[in-house]
Amino acid sequence: METPEQIRRQRIVGGNLALDLLNTQNGPAGGQPEDDVLHDYADLVAWGHHIGMLSDAEGERLRRASRRQPDAARATFDRAVATRAYLYELFDAVARDMPPPERAIARLQRDESEALSHAELVAVDDGFAWSWSHDGDLTRPLWPVIHAATTLLIDGPLDRVKGCAACRFHFVDESKNRSRRWCSMDDCGTEDKMRKYVARRASARSAGAAGV
Ligand SMILES: [Zn+2]
Repeated sequence: METPEQIRRQRIVGGNLALDLLNTQNGPAGGQPEDDVLHDYADLVAWGHHIGMLSDAEGERLRRASRRQPDAARATFDRAVATRAYLYELFDAVARDMPPPERAIARLQRDESEALSHAELVAVDDGFAWSWSHDGDLTRPLWPVIHAATTLLIDGPLDRVKGCAACRFHFVDESKNRSRRWCSMDDCGTEDKMRKYVARRASARSAGAAGV
């Protein structure tokens, strides 16, 4: 399956499918999104495939089905955008140690019961798991995301959900001493350190100049 460039470039650093969906919008920490890697239903499927949630066959099947039902595909994409918005409100609040908005919890509850109505309990290596693979419904890419959000909310670790110090990405901090501050050291970490270094140099220079 072909993956659009903007999706291929996007870093997958959330550690949870729901946070990965939030991280499909770029922008500054705590600020408005500056760009979006998802533009239509085909992008949603390509993203689901890129992060390993949809198999090749499932991705192709959903794309074909969406071409036969363009109105339903558009409505599903709109729903994905709305889902991402309320999940952002919810987990951004969690990351800030604030109570999540009640309307977001209510929507997640409704969406989770709908998601599970599309799931099947199947045997896996070490027990059983929900599977959404047998459902031809166009909303298929959203079900595991919604279930991942619910699981994270119920089982946690909520105290490890964090917002990047430099961008609007969110992630589960799996580091031993809970010290992760950035979505990725290579991008935001390096940039943030560079910015602070430049600021320190500038203030050292102005302090030096004031001392003369
Ligand atoms: Zn970041």
